[in-house]
Amino acid sequence: MDTHNKSIKKIKSLIDLMDEVDGHSSYKKKAVPTDASLAMAKEMAAKLDLPFDFGETKVLGTHLLAAYFHEIVHVLNVDPETITIEHGLDPTYIRATIGMSTDHSHATIFVDECLHFWLFAVNFLTLLNTCFDFTEVQKKELARLLAIQFTMFRDPLGVHESSREALAPLFLEFADIALVANAHTLTQTVFAICHELSHQILKHGIESDRDQEFEADKKAFTYLLAIFNERDDLRYAQIDTGTLCSPCLLFYYLSASNTYLLGSDFDTDSHPPNRDRATALEAQRNEWSEKSQANFPKIKRSFDDLVTRIVNSSLR
Ligand SMILES: [Zn+2]
Repeated sequence: MDTHNKSIKKIKSLIDLMDEVDGHSSYKKKAVPTDASLAMAKEMAAKLDLPFDFGETKVLGTHLLAAYFHEIVHVLNVDPETITIEHGLDPTYIRATIGMSTDHSHATIFVDECLHFWLFAVNFLTLLNTCFDFTEVQKKELARLLAIQFTMFRDPLGVHESSREALAPLFLEFADIALVANAHTLTQTVFAICHELSHQILKHGIESDRDQEFEADKKAFTYLLAIFNERDDLRYAQIDTGTLCSPCLLFYYLSASNTYLLGSDFDTDSHPPNRDRATALEAQRNEWSEKSQANFPKIKRSFDDLVTRIVNSSLR
């Protein structure tokens, strides 16, 4: 318990420091929680009978990625002097990347703040469709909202506000599903940070290749398991047992989104198709918890159902 409190204290003070770090950020824009979004978070917490700390929620609204990052570095015992994180809003497309010195002695991980909201929305719509037996008309509406999220991937700032307004009533009505969506989003975000961290630890070049991407995914999953095993001692990166399948879902989401927007699965020389990365992670499913193994086919089927509806109804 003592170590627990100590690590919380360490993390909290690091969050306080982030304000100074942010002054040097290469991102021009940053997400700031609005009064409306904070009010909504409070209302959702009340619905779920969860404690709500206005101050902490406001800080985390800006520094959640940094909080995850510090806990990841702490669990993996990475020297914090060798790696930093920068987060902000990129108007071109949502992404996570890494930049490092040629001798790998220092690296900076860049994570788009929209990644978290995008994943949350996609997880939420997918889980709604998984957990309820909706009518055809309602399913069509879920597919329409998912198509808007797919559009958002390459125009994050263009539809961010309007998409949140469209989803807000659903978040409140199905607050319990939002809680599960949040658990999956947390795991996917931690995985994305671990993937970038793996590139530095495996001493990959700035110009990565396909094999290195698979290698980094594999390493990131072992890191995710290490963080999962320490979850009781962490304050923010608490990976839920049922979400070890989430990184695999993440690549299915990216694959469908790219196919919808670009007509292909964004197949480049440096990155393998997202579908292949999903398949590679799925091959390791014996390492997922039983709960995750049971959850995965249901969630995947529900997501595929929505994607099929998007394609068939030409929601473009
Ligand atoms: Zn990579």
